[in-house]
Amino acid sequence: MNSAVFPGSFDPLTLGHKDIIDRALPLFDTLIIAIGVNVDKNYMFDTEARIQMIEAVYQNEPKIKVVAYSGLTVDFCHAHQLHFILRGLRNPADFEFEKAIAQTNRKLGNIETVFLLTGPETSFISSSIVRDIFRNGGDISKLVPIEIMPVILNNL
Ligand code: ADP
Repeated sequence: MNSAVFPGSFDPLTLGHKDIIDRALPLFDTLIIAIGVNVDKNYMFDTEARIQMIEAVYQNEPKIKVVAYSGLTVDFCHAHQLHFILRGLRNPADFEFEKAIAQTNRKLGNIETVFLLTGPETSFISSSIVRDIFRNGGDISKLVPIEIMPVILNNL
């Protein structure tokens, strides 16, 4: 079985994440979307809400599993016998940051990172911009999958 993990904060899931997930689906038999839980990070949406958002979008996609995790991604990979990490790249800053992490994960855990380049129509989207717009009462509906809007509104 060719499985990968897509780790991230997904705070909230955006159309950028969805673009990467949809394009990775044909490459893997199973894609585990692993929602990071880091006690030092201040998330806008709690773990349960972030899980619900992804499940709302992918409820009919049997290849996708959504889990929460804490600790090192390589440890998560070993615990679940996963050999591939999926990450998205938007720009040179993402590349520089991800390069060091990917090389470290290969050194630490013999895990390969597979990168997909963002599509041009979603490359500008980030969860932090979405949070900022949302916090200030703006319209985020063009930046996130429409299916997550009820979850967001339930968590106000
Ligand atoms: P993290 O805190 O781990 O960076 P994010 O939820 O911000 O979590 O991002 C998870 C992954 O999704 C990262 O690989 C990131 O580069 C990718 N990603 C985020 N936004 C986009 C986007 N607009 N296009 C492509 N990839 C994206």
